[in-house]
Parts: sequence; C-alpha cells; structure tokens
Amino acid sequence: MKLYNTISRQKENFKTLEGNEARIYSCGPTVYNYAHIGNLRTYVFMDILRRVLKYNGYTLKHVMNITDVGHLVSDSDEGEDKMLKGAREQQKSPWEIAEHYTQVFLNDIAKLNIEKPEIVPKATEHIDEMLEFVKGLLEEGYAYETSDGIYFDISKFEGYGKLSKINLEEQMAGARVEVNEEKRHPADFALWKKAPKEHIMQWPSPWGMGYPGWHIECSAMGRKYLGDVFDIHTGGVDHIPIHHENEIAQSEALLGKPTVNYWLHGEFMLVDNGKMSKSLGNTYTVADIEAKGLKPLAFRYLCLNAHYRNKLNFTWEAMQSAQVSYDRLMEGALSHKKATEEIEKEVIESFEKEFEEAINDDLNIPKALGIVWNVVRYGKKSAALFNLLVKMDTVLGLDIGKVEEKKAEEQQADPEVEDLINQRQQARKDKNWKLADEIRDKLKAMGIVLEDTPQGVKWKRV
Ligand code: AMP
Ligand code: ZN
Repeated sequence: MKLYNTISRQKENFKTLEGNEARIYSCGPTVYNYAHIGNLRTYVFMDILRRVLKYNGYTLKHVMNITDVGHLVSDSDEGEDKMLKGAREQQKSPWEIAEHYTQVFLNDIAKLNIEKPEIVPKATEHIDEMLEFVKGLLEEGYAYETSDGIYFDISKFEGYGKLSKINLEEQMAGARVEVNEEKRHPADFALWKKAPKEHIMQWPSPWGMGYPGWHIECSAMGRKYLGDVFDIHTGGVDHIPIHHENEIAQSEALLGKPTVNYWLHGEFMLVDNGKMSKSLGNTYTVADIEAKGLKPLAFRYLCLNAHYRNKLNFTWEAMQSAQVSYDRLMEGALSHKKATEEIEKEVIESFEKEFEEAINDDLNIPKALGIVWNVVRYGKKSAALFNLLVKMDTVLGLDIGKVEEKKAEEQQADPEVEDLINQRQQARKDKNWKLADEIRDKLKAMGIVLEDTPQGVKWKRV
C-alpha cells in the first residue's frame, strides 16, 4: 500500500512500526461552531484512510482530538481563543459550547458514515500531559518565558520548516508586523499562555494561571495514546506550514528523533471556486444539505469523486448531481442483489484486483469508484456482483449493503402524504399552480420533499 508522505513529497510504501497495528493521529475539530463541509471533507479523507488500512488487514489505534481550548483566531498565536469568541457570541459558557458542538460533530460524522476513531480525547482533559511537555522543553533549553507565556524558540531546532520547506529567512520575511516584542523570532510560538484574571478557561501551572497553546495539545495527546513515535498523522493542507511544523519542532526537540513516519494532508474544499467564509455565507453544514432534501451520504459520494490531494469545488449543482448519481449507484447495486446469472470467477477476481490496486495507490478513490460503476453496469446481473459491491463498500462507506432497507424506509407508505401528493397532481392537471405550490410547501413543512421524475412524483422524508 502506497501513501503520499508530505515530508518526503513522494509516494512511499506503507510499513507499520509494529506488526499489524497502524497508529494514527488526526487533528480533530475545534468545537466552537458547526463543522462546515470543508472540515467534513477532511474527515471523509481520514475515514477513507482508516477503511483502506482495515481492508488491508491492519488493526487501528486511531486518535482524533477535540480542541476545546487554545486554538486562537489566527493559527499563529494571534487573536482571541476561538472557544471564548464562540461563547461570547452565543452567550454561553465555553464548556457548554464545547459540549454542544462536540455532540453535533459526532452526529454529523455518523451521518456521513465516518467511523469514530478509537480514541477521542479532549484537550481540556489533558492539561497535565501538556504541562509535562512544556516543562521538558524548558529544561532542554528549547523554550523561554516571556511576560505573557512560554514560547518555543525555533532557532534552537535545526529542522524547522522541513515539512513546509520554508526556511527561517522566508518565515521572517513573510511574518506580519510583530505584535509581541518579547518573542525572539516572529515564528516562535506559544506553548503556554499566561491568562489574565478575566480569562474564562485557565489552569494552574509553574508560571501561574494559564492555558495551553494549540500545537502542544496534539503533540501531548498523540504521545500519550500512541507512544513517542507512531505511524501516520493527518490533517488538512492548511496545517502544514504552522500547526504541523510546530508539532514537529516540539516533539522532535523533546524526544530527539522524528516522531511521525507518514504525514498525510487532505486538500481543501472550495465553494463556487472560492474560499469558504462566514462573511460570504457559504460555510455550509450537514444541516444545510439535509434542508435541501439531499442526503449526507450523497455528500460523501461527492467527496469520493475527487482524490484527497486535489481541490474539490462544491456547488449546489454538483451536490444535486452527486445525489442523482448516488441514487443510481444504489439502484444499480440493488438490480444485482437477487439476480442469478452466472459470472466467471475470473471476472470477479479481476474487478477485485483493479479495485485493490486503486485504493492502495495513495487512496485513489475516484479510480476505485469507476471500477465500482463497472461492476454495477456489468452486462450480467448477479448476486455475486452485489456481494462484491458490498465488499468494496467497506472502503467507500456508502451503505450499499443496506440498499433495500434504505429504500423501504424512504418509500414507507403514508396515506396522508400520498393524499396530498395526489391533490397536488390534480391541481397541476387543472393548471392551478398556486394550489400546487401551496401543497408542496405544506409537505415541505412536514419534512417531505418532492421530486418530479419521468417515472412520476417521488418523495422522501428529510
Ligand atoms: P478546525 O476545526 O478549524 O481545526 O479544522 C478541522 C479540520 O478541517 C482541519 O483538519 C482543517 O485542516 C480542515 N479544514 C478547514 N477548512 C477546510 C476546507 N475548506 N477544506 C478542507 N478541509 C478544511
Ligand atoms: Zn493538531
């Protein structure tokens, strides 16, 4: 199995440190708001990695943290803590905010069939481990104290910039006007911040009350659960130049050796070919997808159509067509389920081989999906092909095995709904568009979405 390692900029054969167990760390969500579809794309990528590893027979020890403190508005230590900002804006305590958005996040990933990693630690429950880490770095001379915190001294760590391939001079030139004059280098980063009295989240430390820096959280929790050195670390590409560069600096400085063997990064999702941002109102969520009568798994299908190292442009048109393709894929799979035509063993084996080659070539899921479609459209219908699709779906996670139950659920007879649909059909026949629209709106308010298809009106609950 080959994976593209950001640190070497090439595809490498994957080999675990110990036996059959793959140890993985994924940077988890900062739980101050809903996860947007871009965030979720990164977790679909994380999930595909999990599933491909399992397909290859690995067992997993996978950590995904919950960042519930310390992630400032700018990744490079500027601005307010996102948790406190969220709390202030929503007039709740940061603890309530964290609890609420953690639950929403876990529900969202479940809807997208993203498996919950084995270990999901919260940053606020690992302050001791972080303090130990910071103390170690101070003792070894890699960190220094200022009036507002403890900072990592990047000039003491020779390999700084090796992940993003940025050198110190470039860092220096690129840095914004420095606000913190006590820092020795603009790219030095906070390991621990001293908290003013009014700061809501704070813990005792040898340097007074304070709270951890964001980067130290991942290094400390990764080390606690996966050991000093582990196999894979994942995140979005935005983490390469700051967050992961800083994780490498801290961990290697303390432990004297590289601590991660494979760095994997998922490319960004764009919306209408541009950045997602609150001000543009395009940070869509799973709830937005559902509100349009579209299925979360159709969004997953949309994600699977792009390789994780390519940008993916989200538009509502693309989302609609992903829904249509996903429904067709499920229909096609179902057409094989009870069929009995004879299929040669070689045909199945050859599909399987092609599929495995694709997934093991740096998770080439778009290619694997093409093979899945070839199975669906194969000239003969056979339950053996359905079983093959179910096996492939252990990687895709599209619920192909549950196709019948899902269909039954959606088509559940409901006399009231059927009656309203018939009334609407009549109104349309009578060219009473106003009434037809009113009935559609009434159904919408009941959580029923209509779809006019060549085969007649279909409906589903959302
Ligand atoms: P955060 O909750 O901000 O820490 O981000 C959670 C994850 O989403 C991180 O791995 C980010 O790299 C990733 N991420 C943020 N924005 C996008 C985007 N537009 N497309 C894909 N991944 C993203
Ligand atoms: Zn992280």
